[in-house]
Amino acid sequence: MSTSKILNNLKTATKFIHAGAEPDPSTGAIMTPIYQTSTYVQSAPGQHKGYEYARSQNPTRFALESALATIENGKYGLAFASGVAATDAVIKLLNPGDEVIAANDMYGGTYRLFTKIFEKFGIRFHYVDTTNVDNIHKALNEKTKLIWIETPTNPLMNISDIAAIADLSKKAGTILCVDNTFASPYLQNPLDLGADIVMHSSTKYLGGHSDVIQGALILNDTELRDKLYFIQKSSGAVPGPFDCFLVLRGIKTLHVRMKAHCENGAAVAHFLRNHSKVDKVYWCGFEDHPNHDIAKKQMRGFGGMISFTLKDSSIEAATKVLSGTKIFSLAESLGGVESLINHPASMTHASIPREERLKYGLTDGLIRLSVGIEDADDLVNDLSQALES
Ligand SMILES: *Cc1c(COP(=O)(O)O)cnc(C)c1O
Repeated sequence: MSTSKILNNLKTATKFIHAGAEPDPSTGAIMTPIYQTSTYVQSAPGQHKGYEYARSQNPTRFALESALATIENGKYGLAFASGVAATDAVIKLLNPGDEVIAANDMYGGTYRLFTKIFEKFGIRFHYVDTTNVDNIHKALNEKTKLIWIETPTNPLMNISDIAAIADLSKKAGTILCVDNTFASPYLQNPLDLGADIVMHSSTKYLGGHSDVIQGALILNDTELRDKLYFIQKSSGAVPGPFDCFLVLRGIKTLHVRMKAHCENGAAVAHFLRNHSKVDKVYWCGFEDHPNHDIAKKQMRGFGGMISFTLKDSSIEAATKVLSGTKIFSLAESLGGVESLINHPASMTHASIPREERLKYGLTDGLIRLSVGIEDADDLVNDLSQALES
């Protein structure tokens, strides 16, 4: 019996720590070694140990891919050189003329990949508000091959009902892919809710220490896995063994970090909401969040991602806060142990045209926080002094 089968019956903490960890067959090393090699010696032509060339096979990557499958309750994991490389592989399943229904509020780089790279190959993307399943229903037609959602969304923390969309997708015969980067497998498992593919930017919570760029796909269907593996090796966006080692190590503490992210996220969200200079706070843990019920149903916690606007909606006012924090660092990315503050309109989402993002509420003054796992009091005090400045 493989370890992943044993692990499936265990609780989260045990699963995350032991996922992918088989003692190294040559030495018994408890941590999977970094197999820094490009090729493998064959004893005679075609006679090898299952490893021919490292773009196709690498033991460190395989250990990580097995861990990814375990933590998302999937059968197969595939690791990519970045989150967008994982997304790129999914779109390469399609043919010219195929159509995709995608969320209108999602990571800017996903939108850029769809519009600037894939549209010219004849794939059509329809962007709809996926928080309302009816919008997806209306956009479906016989050419729809893929539904792409993100929940919670980056940066407006909108929640889509994964089970309801999976149901619709199954009936329509399309593939549902969920970008689960913001929730992480600790808070949400889309495959359990009926999704076909889970995508992660492992750069964020899975790695967790702001020291690696990487992506992942996790799924159950063998035929789909074989197609994606073929794309992975043919297009070549594989992660290096050292980066695989880092993510493998990050996964071991994911549950501990996520608990702390959730606690600190709640503290910061409530502080902001009660602050006189703050207008709206976007965090799916608030009971009056428009999709709070669905969040409660499909997530085990609400995470540490928060966006907010100021009553003074000018860019100048936002800039003062963005430049005024001392513990929150002004930077793109999220999901690391350290807190970050970000201005989506000029940073992570600058690739979305202004009139497009204004349509769905991504305003110029929006500020996004990735709440880290420092002491919550220090984080609140830091935001407090930045807001007073
Ligand atoms: C960062 C991010 C991506 C892209 O991942 P990279 O690792 O930067 O390529 C995709 N989706 C979401 C939600 C992200 O935050």
